[in-house]
Amino acid sequence: MRWILIILFCLTSCITVNQEAPNESGVYNYSQNVHKLDLNIATAIQKQYAPNATIYLEYDQPLTWGIMGLANQLNPHTYLIQLTRDNPYPLNTLFHELGHVIDGEAGKLGFKDPYTWNGVKCNFKQPWSDRPWEQSANVWRDSLLHSYQNEQLEYYDYSSERFLKPLRYLELKFRFPKTNDGIRDSIY
Ligand SMILES: [Zn+2]
Repeated sequence: MRWILIILFCLTSCITVNQEAPNESGVYNYSQNVHKLDLNIATAIQKQYAPNATIYLEYDQPLTWGIMGLANQLNPHTYLIQLTRDNPYPLNTLFHELGHVIDGEAGKLGFKDPYTWNGVKCNFKQPWSDRPWEQSANVWRDSLLHSYQNEQLEYYDYSSERFLKPLRYLELKFRFPKTNDGIRDSIY
């Protein structure tokens, strides 16, 4: 059983995407370590909510302990989203980080130093949970999760999930046997 899971994991990790035009808007699996399911979902969200954004997505990043994901702007309309390698619920984090990108594209979150929220300099002395841009990203996370689960993502091909979803579930179950408990349910 363990070897079957390893093989499945390898197969689903090696799916490649076209990188011929990385500057066009879209979501790019730059380091080839983003699961196809997550990439498809992120692409559908980008198309629907941030159509002019170019997003580079990288998983398995060695982020500081306690940081599950990061969103940074590289250039106007160009973003890098990084997720930590120790993340049993990557979609939750991905949706949160995409929320920052959506707010960036809407002009609410300014990524240039100093960071701004609705035109006002961000106060990083506030506790994380009191920061309005983080609260907004959490609202996006919940809203995107709801849309995804209720088949409301306009550009998402839900028929592709028949194979990808169980594979993704098995992969995460294998990597995080203790934390993945059946889970919310099936999507992770
Ligand atoms: Zn955040």
